[in-house]
Amino acid sequence: MFNLQKVGAVLVAAGRGERMGNIDKIFAPLGKVSVLQHVATVLESSPYVDYITVVLRADNMARGQSLLHQNTITKLTAVCQGGVRRQDSVLIGLNALPPCQWVLIHDGARPLLSHNLIADGLEAAQDTGAATAAVPVTDTVKLADDHFYIKETLPRQHLWSIQTPQVFRFDIIKAGFMQALNDVTDDAALVEALGVSVKLYAGAYSNIKLTTPADVILAQTLWKQMED
Ligand code: C5P
Repeated sequence: MFNLQKVGAVLVAAGRGERMGNIDKIFAPLGKVSVLQHVATVLESSPYVDYITVVLRADNMARGQSLLHQNTITKLTAVCQGGVRRQDSVLIGLNALPPCQWVLIHDGARPLLSHNLIADGLEAAQDTGAATAAVPVTDTVKLADDHFYIKETLPRQHLWSIQTPQVFRFDIIKAGFMQALNDVTDDAALVEALGVSVKLYAGAYSNIKLTTPADVILAQTLWKQMED
């Protein structure tokens, strides 16, 4: 269905990782390789992805490029230096892709990307041109005021934790960035602001984002289980 059109992937890995202590999460080990190499290899081996752009922090460029080189990521079209906000890094990555009709944006900090998450995202996005991986929220979520008093308990049946991959028709996500006025924490928000419906598709609870040192241990454990 989408194999006649070009698909570009933007891997954003230029965050500061301030809650990680001294560990740089993209260089944390996952088996014999680093998180960065592992995610790039999953994109490389997906039959649906044609091009990969990786966005890194200035001080990680040399090490990141050398690791990607070791793994021979043949679809790698650019390694770029990221921006201040996540959305700045994504735009830099988008602009570095060769012409393509679809784009898949993935957080480099989510190491347990799978081929299914890539294929399912591309399929879900065929409907409106926009889709994101998501899982149902399992905690009760409450809205609180600035003094930590609960204002409201949100009904859980409509609450979702949003992950990446997020998949878009290239022209739609570019339009979202052209009109971007606010700081956003994901790319779907830019497309929502255009009035385009974004389809949720099944993410995975294992598709965690490395935020604290404990997440690295969890990802390594999950990865080992998946390998066995
Ligand atoms: O910190 P946050 O949850 O927004 O990070 C999500 C992803 O975006 C991470 O993979 C991080 O490396 C990336 N990011 C980036 N450039 C930034 C901030 C975050 O590439 N300026």
